[in-house]
Amino acid sequence: MTIADNSPLMAAPGESGFATATHVFNSVAAPEPTAATTARTVEQVRTAIRYARDRGLGVRVHSTGHGAAAARPVRDAVLIRTAIDGGVTLDPRARIARVPAGTRWEAVVRATEPHGLAAAHGSSGTVGVVGYALQGGLSPYGRLVGLAANSVRAVELVTADGQHRRVDAGSDPELFWALRGGGGGFGVVTAIELDLFPVTTVITGAAYWPGSLADRLLTAWLAWAQDAPDIATTSVRVMNFPDVPEVPRELAGRTTFTVDGVVHADDPESARRCADDLLGPLRAIGPPLLDTWQKDVPSAVLRAHMDPEGPLPIVGDHMLLDEFDAHAVAPLLDVIGEGSGSPLVGAGLRQLGGAYAAPRAPGGVLDRLTANYSYAGSGLAADPDAAAALRAHCAKVRSALARWNTGRVVPSFVEDFAQDHRHLDARQAAAVDRVRARIDPGRLFRDDVSPTDTRQE
Ligand SMILES: Cc1cc2nc3c(=O)[nH]c(=O)nc-3n(C[C@H](O)[C@H](O)[C@H](O)COP(=O)(O)OP(=O)(O)OC[C@H]3O[C@@H](n4cnc5c(N)ncnc54)[C@H](O)[C@@H]3O)c2cc1C
Repeated sequence: MTIADNSPLMAAPGESGFATATHVFNSVAAPEPTAATTARTVEQVRTAIRYARDRGLGVRVHSTGHGAAAARPVRDAVLIRTAIDGGVTLDPRARIARVPAGTRWEAVVRATEPHGLAAAHGSSGTVGVVGYALQGGLSPYGRLVGLAANSVRAVELVTADGQHRRVDAGSDPELFWALRGGGGGFGVVTAIELDLFPVTTVITGAAYWPGSLADRLLTAWLAWAQDAPDIATTSVRVMNFPDVPEVPRELAGRTTFTVDGVVHADDPESARRCADDLLGPLRAIGPPLLDTWQKDVPSAVLRAHMDPEGPLPIVGDHMLLDEFDAHAVAPLLDVIGEGSGSPLVGAGLRQLGGAYAAPRAPGGVLDRLTANYSYAGSGLAADPDAAAALRAHCAKVRSALARWNTGRVVPSFVEDFAQDHRHLDARQAAAVDRVRARIDPGRLFRDDVSPTDTRQE
């Protein structure tokens, strides 16, 4: 079968357009679908769905492939890469952005910044808006605004029957509820509408210290984090940056400990005081090797975490931790700290609580996180042996943190589809499945359902 003859849109392996459509940020999980396409319009999405349905193939969807390793491998399926035309449009008065699927966060931030508005974006501008937001989304503003999924106001999608629907709280409350954090498998999203919030004073950046100070710094940060105000959302990590030209000289080829994040407040004085309360005690422990924390424009938030621009072969792990406190410092640093032999480039904690635990209004099925920290650790797998070593080390970290591991995850943070994890309880998962059965009775999108949604309690 030459797929190109049957449908001008679809490409089989080796055909023109296949490499672009299957390109993924996380190159460790290159998809191998039967055919693939890049859809720029709703009509092209419809054609691709029809193509799959007519041939008894499943449908997998992606945008940037940042989450490629978290998705099930593609088998007997058509892969649709969404790169929908149109660009970001704003209604600054209503504080809503409409974002076509395939758009990356940097485009949203570029559009909102001139209006003094921001969205609940993540730490990297290269991440796609749709996958991030519908799978939870931990934002550097997260303790103030909650999970990004809660800021989704409407979802436009093409469902298995070829219908293009705009789903919101009024038009189909059940599907709207399931779409926000339910784990996918409902259709091909073509755009989402997001709530924006006014952004005034932003203090952001990262400070890096020698890895030898990690014990004291982590202990001090945990003490601060215990009752930190919601205007601050920070993360701490042990970094083992490679010695390459893109990495600042102070950090290259050594183990460091970093604290990065955002303090955001309407009142500059409150923001400054909060940043001083966070950073003062840490700077007193030792002078940072590099310190970029400062009052800045909102788009600087996308640079603070120093995420890679990719693509890269990433292998990692993620857990939501609870009751994690000073007793956990030694067990954690034993496996990720200086001298531990950790092959992870970065490993550490994001601060939860605040609006993550107590959202202002109920949202979708995943609208809150009650754990106190999110752990993530990952490294670069140059070859299969390195990937195996990374997976073995991730298992070691998992076992060291078993006492604090809730067994829950945020789907947007999952790095490996095969890991043991879930994000819904059994009742929620069953309710989401009932919505899927109504919307996709033929299970066309079966392989697009997040593996985290199907594990039982
Ligand atoms: C460098 C880096 C930084 C990151 N920072 C953060 C962060 O700060 N906070 C955070 O929460 N996460 C973060 N992530 C994780 C990221 O949010 C997830 O990988 C997310 O899946 C990315 O969404 P995407 O659409 O870009 O990825 P993709 O891999 O393209 O998509 C992931 C999944 O989303 C779904 N999806 C994507 N597009 C569509 C569509 N059009 N229709 C229907 N379903 C779709 C599919 O189920 C797909 O499998 C980061 C990842 C990386 C690599």
